[in-house]
Amino acid sequence: MQTLGYAARSATEALASFRFDRREPRPDDVVLDVLYCGVCHTDLHIARNHAGYTRYPVVPGHEIVGRVTQVGSAVTGFKVGDTIGVGCMVDSCQHCNPCRQGDEQHCEQGPTFTYNAVDRHDGQPTYGGYSKQMVVSEKFVLRIPDGLHPAGVAPLLCAGITTWEPLHRWKAGPGKRVAVVGLGGLGHMALKLAKALGAEVTLFTRSPGKEADARRLGADHVVLSSDAGQMGAVAGHFDLIVDTVPYEHDVNPYLPTLRFNGTLVLVGYMGPLNTPVSAGALVFGRKAIAGSFIGGVAATQEMLDFCGEHGVVSDVEVIPIQQINQAYERLLKSDVKYRFVIDMASLQIEQA
Ligand code: NAP
Ligand code: ZN
Ligand code: ZN
Repeated sequence: MQTLGYAARSATEALASFRFDRREPRPDDVVLDVLYCGVCHTDLHIARNHAGYTRYPVVPGHEIVGRVTQVGSAVTGFKVGDTIGVGCMVDSCQHCNPCRQGDEQHCEQGPTFTYNAVDRHDGQPTYGGYSKQMVVSEKFVLRIPDGLHPAGVAPLLCAGITTWEPLHRWKAGPGKRVAVVGLGGLGHMALKLAKALGAEVTLFTRSPGKEADARRLGADHVVLSSDAGQMGAVAGHFDLIVDTVPYEHDVNPYLPTLRFNGTLVLVGYMGPLNTPVSAGALVFGRKAIAGSFIGGVAATQEMLDFCGEHGVVSDVEVIPIQQINQAYERLLKSDVKYRFVIDMASLQIEQA
């Protein structure tokens, strides 16, 4: 079926409208009209080929809320008219060890990502949520709890699950002290989720102007990371630090703020850390640096259900798709409160 979206055609070109084909639905597929799609910093990294593996044209978008318009003959969990979510993955091998444990994001054969990947059955490129329609296997479709605004839900499909996963794994909850580095899309979800889970929550930020917002979003304390006095005041304090910074940065200043057995979990930047880390900073106090990558389908559903129960959604700035390139420039300046979400109805006026 032919559909319309927005694509980057090279690392240096602005995104522009793009007509392309989606596969005809297979028996286990759900067809959806995209209602809203969040704008993740990863979309920008991929559109501009920051990691060197982008295949053009690329249609980004993996924080998707849509409405079901058609279901394949074998679909049992969804029906026409349902409001559903699609996140960062659309398929995986389903039988390796991580897949069987519900960690499809760590599939040993590699999960099929929502965009900039190749469908494992027909070899065709996958295209993301900056588009009118999608076709996705029901195994990777999420139920959206009633009562949450769909625009605010969209970012839960990546920013939400990516921060939920380490909070959950490292048992953030009452009596635990959690810090979040960076107040952007992931960071603001981390504050909200950590607070809703009952932890004591602190934000580390470079930006003095974000303090009031951080407190509104759930932070009990705010630490300006450039202020040595403020950093010293939280020495030995945190059980868990979730670091969402998207670019190379020095993690050494954060390690002394971990308490005994504490862990700093990297979820933002994925390249080399250029400032060496002293082994002693980890050895003494049994501290750890770890990483975490999105989350599996079952965990994503659990997070969405938790958000439904606790009324947690993202703080969004809804934009028409025609503003996507300006939105990327603002992301680079950390000028977003706190997630751009594209209203896909804006695509109706495109005449590609
Ligand atoms: P974002 O909305 O742009 O927020 C990033 C925040 O980090 C900024 O608001 C800023 O907060 C801080 N920051 C930015 N540049 C910095 C720098 N050079 N040094 C220190 N702090 C800086 O980005 P996002 O959408 O939350 O994504 C964050 C990162 O996570 C991206 O790299 C994205 O690709 C990655 N990601 C990873 C996963 C995963 O599964 N692991 C999933 C989704 C996204 P302050 O102004 O408060 O300092
Ligand atoms: Zn993302
Ligand atoms: Zn697998």
